[in-house]
Amino acid sequence: MSSTATDYEETAVRAGRELEEATAQEILRWAADTFGGRFCVTSSMEDAVVAHLASSVFPGVDVVFLDTGYHFAETIGTRDAVAATMPVNVITLTPRQSVAEQDAEYGPNLHDRDPDLCCSLRKVEPLNRGLGGYDAWATGLRRDESPSRANTPVVSWDARRRKVKIAPIARWTQEDVDAYVAANGVLLNPLLWEGYTSIGCSPLSCTRKPAEGEDARAGRWSGSGKTECGIHL
Ligand code: SF4
Repeated sequence: MSSTATDYEETAVRAGRELEEATAQEILRWAADTFGGRFCVTSSMEDAVVAHLASSVFPGVDVVFLDTGYHFAETIGTRDAVAATMPVNVITLTPRQSVAEQDAEYGPNLHDRDPDLCCSLRKVEPLNRGLGGYDAWATGLRRDESPSRANTPVVSWDARRRKVKIAPIARWTQEDVDAYVAANGVLLNPLLWEGYTSIGCSPLSCTRKPAEGEDARAGRWSGSGKTECGIHL
């Protein structure tokens, strides 16, 4: 009998409990064994840590990237380097409208006037569409990134999309990430060396370098009260 969405809801809740203390590789091994080709990794191309971890247990794994049309050139370059050098299948999702088409309908610089709508059009809708062929998706969310991510489960039920959501490095600290990157020569977005600690779209209203003492995501939609693009809400 094939599994249904309801089956996977129970699976997700149970796995969230049972894998809380598991290593990232053990969590990803469970995902690969449970979902096979109906599992993917999403990456913002800030780094290739989760893609690297996933490819080590599941070579050829799909790595989904959202190309909003507003990315830094360094982010697109990181995406291309990942595709060229790692045993993964990079899939680029795009919004229904180009930036020019969006400007024509909503006016220019929607990100400055209504970032929630801009993220909905350029991130959330394309991701929801792109995840249609999968039962489970992995992200690089970590509990230490910001207060809004402090309770991230390692495995949970994404009720809005009716999929299993996996955060294999949820329990990692920045030091854990740095050690893994150093030990494995993992690709990083070069903007990390320029002082950015969380890299999203290039408009200043969406991504700036954090000031001394601010948390890693403080430079995202700074001053707007917005902390998440909507993908993880
Ligand atoms: S991060 Fe900024 S530019 Fe990118 S989709 Fe969201 S509001 Fe638009």
